[in-house]
Amino acid sequence: MSELNIKDLHVNIGEKEILKGVTLSIQQGQVHAIMGPNGTGKSTLAYTLMGHPSYQVTGGSATFKGHDLFSLPTDERSRLGLFLAFQYPVAIPGVTVANFLRTAVNARRKAINPADKGIPILEFRNLLKEKMRMLKMDPSFAGRYLNDGFSGGEKKRAEVLQMAVLQPEIAILDETDSGLDIDALKIVSEGIHLLQEQNVGVLLITHYQRMLNYTKPDFVHVMMAGRIVESGGADLALHLEEHGYDWIREKIENGINGNK
Ligand code: ADP
Ligand code: MG
Repeated sequence: MSELNIKDLHVNIGEKEILKGVTLSIQQGQVHAIMGPNGTGKSTLAYTLMGHPSYQVTGGSATFKGHDLFSLPTDERSRLGLFLAFQYPVAIPGVTVANFLRTAVNARRKAINPADKGIPILEFRNLLKEKMRMLKMDPSFAGRYLNDGFSGGEKKRAEVLQMAVLQPEIAILDETDSGLDIDALKIVSEGIHLLQEQNVGVLLITHYQRMLNYTKPDFVHVMMAGRIVESGGADLALHLEEHGYDWIREKIENGINGNK
């Protein structure tokens, strides 16, 4: 059983403490949603887990499949089966979606077996075709330059396709739903559902409840000011849609007063 275990994680950007003790555990096959207002540290958590150099871990730990995540370079985290879908994917003109994905698959195979000669072209084409069919993507998509001139929805689809092809064990999706119309939102959600069926663990970071109308999370967490301040089931997201975050803020304030 693969799992990601985050314990009392503290993270700084420069001198500023952004994450102030985050504890979270994700098993394969589970979907966890992290919600919360803007600027509360959701992306910081995602980037820190993947090893972005601007984020300094100042306390706590994270293990993935028993490995100390923070002692591994980003590519090794990826090869172990951790995947991060970006909030703002970058365009790579000149590199097609198919070539990019084949390079990624081969890098992973080579990491497992240095003598690996790479996935045979025909095998890769069939794999890609199958995944694109599952995600209802037009076959011409594979021949386009990665994210070059892609609409918001197409970029997110490309991220989901990447996940379907690379088959991570834990996938972190940072606001993969932002800027999507309803059709694209459904496709991304179906993609997540597919991952879930393949027993992938998903950490779904989202500012909006609407994503969760299509993807039913097993757990919902609310992050505020660098901490997870509330956790519950899918019903917590519905409650948040109706009542916003103020009741949590009040609860925290009352808690602080109660401790006086
Ligand atoms: P979220 O994803 O929840 O909207 P972020 O993790 O992006 O929040 O940001 C958390 C906090 O970190 C915010 O207050 C933001 O202003 C601050 N922050 C993010 N990036 C930087 C940076 N490069 N330098 C300084 N502060 C930053
Ligand atoms: Mg963010």
